[in-house]
Amino acid sequence: MSKDPDCIFCKIAAGEVPCAKVYEDDAALAFMDIGPLAEGHVLLIPREHYQTVGQMPADVAGACLQPLPGLVRAVQHATGCQGVNVLQNNGTVAHQVVPHVHFHIIPRNAGDEFHFNWPAGAYDAGRMDSLQARIREALDGG
Ligand code: AMP
Ligand code: ZN
Repeated sequence: MSKDPDCIFCKIAAGEVPCAKVYEDDAALAFMDIGPLAEGHVLLIPREHYQTVGQMPADVAGACLQPLPGLVRAVQHATGCQGVNVLQNNGTVAHQVVPHVHFHIIPRNAGDEFHFNWPAGAYDAGRMDSLQARIREALDGG
């Protein structure tokens, strides 16, 4: 199992650094975020160290995400929130601070403090089709 000796989440997974755990199994661990965007903010991580989702083998990703629906239900039930964002950041430019894959489970309520800038755009003619083809090709290539 890959591990980074300098990684805070590897240390949490190994029990070397304490956390407020809510769930664990052989592949994954979930615990309270110490800098919550809302009360009840939980992080789900794979035990194994991968920096980004794209680096994870599919079976590792699948095993890590297996508890996600139950965690979302539990956070909703425990906090009474109206909605939930599942958020996952890859790379510094995407606001990843801790370089060990983690899924944020963030309770949401009308009028809360968490805001997205969601700059929905539009494609020039043909641009979406060409990107669709390139993504499909990349998928076929592995
Ligand atoms: P990200 O910006 O996606 O990398 O988010 C990293 C998250 O990890 C932040 O929400 C932090 O509050 C949280 N975090 C960092 N260190 C710890 C820790 N020791 N225990 C719990 N949460 C942590
Ligand atoms: Zn790690």
